Amino acid sequence: MSGARRLDGKALAERVRAGLAGRIAGLGFTPGLVVVRVGDDPASGVYVRNKDRAAAASGFASETRHLPAETTEDALLAEIAALNADASVDGILVQLPLPAQIRAERAIAAVDPAKDVDGFHPLNAGRLASGLPGLVPCTPRGAMHLLRESGAKLRGARAVVLGRSNIVGRPMAQLLLAADCTVTVAHSRTDALPEECRRADILVAAVGRPEMVRGGWVKPGAVVIDVGINRLDSGRLVGDVATEECLGHAAAITPVPGGIGPMTIACLLENTLDAALARRGVVA
Ligand code: NAP
Repeated sequence: MSGARRLDGKALAERVRAGLAGRIAGLGFTPGLVVVRVGDDPASGVYVRNKDRAAAASGFASETRHLPAETTEDALLAEIAALNADASVDGILVQLPLPAQIRAERAIAAVDPAKDVDGFHPLNAGRLASGLPGLVPCTPRGAMHLLRESGAKLRGARAVVLGRSNIVGRPMAQLLLAADCTVTVAHSRTDALPEECRRADILVAAVGRPEMVRGGWVKPGAVVIDVGINRLDSGRLVGDVATEECLGHAAAITPVPGGIGPMTIACLLENTLDAALARRGVVA
């Protein structure tokens, strides 16, 4: 039986992108986003095309620089330096994963923090951890939008974040903390994981394990945010949460697909507009 509301990330992402298009139409300049892709990871290909399409539809100038798989680390760093120096570029995103000969942390640290629309630069991560304004990773930013949209009470709520990666788990925990939640970060070494999860008013799953979170892990009335995107051998796409099982427990839940995924691209565009305005000294 289904008691939970499904939080529609696709519809919210469309509203966010329409709002951005309206703001850009009145700006008098076109914010520019460049995605740097190295090699031919197929999943990245789909993602990069979707980004380009969404950016263009909202009025951004969007370009993908596709470099060959054998690109050296120095060559990539030189490309990033040129984009840092290009005044027409407001946002730079280096698509991950990168080929083995390139250290991702070197590439991430090479991006001008003012153009770091992925929010992965250590300076932006440090600003987030210090409670200072900066560019915030897109997926957690999208999750916060959906949480606020759900009407969930955040102040004083007990939040459990499953996963501690730099791109999702850690920044998600920081954003929940900034929203006055009481935050627990769980990971692969956490003892008694189901019990930890059952304490959560807000449960965010970002582990990359298909349907790991079972119905019995969810506190009645909790809001469940499923960040996971996992392709099963059958070809079916599932999240980190066993959605059907959890529907009878949760008050609201994000579906996969159609939940957090679309919000990530919408928030990349929000970050690009924020970066464009901040670089021009305009307060958003
Ligand atoms: P990641 O870097 O692999 O991190 C996974 C985290 O989950 C790690 O902290 C790991 O713990 C923890 N973990 C793994 N197995 C666990 C287990 N059995 N029990 C408890 N914790 C466990 O992954 P990620 O990049 O954060 O991505 C997580 C998921 O989100 C993936 O499915 C990914 O595809 C998806 N994702 C979606 C979007 C989107 O746009 N919707 C964006 C980014 C990622 P340790 O630290 O102890 O190893």
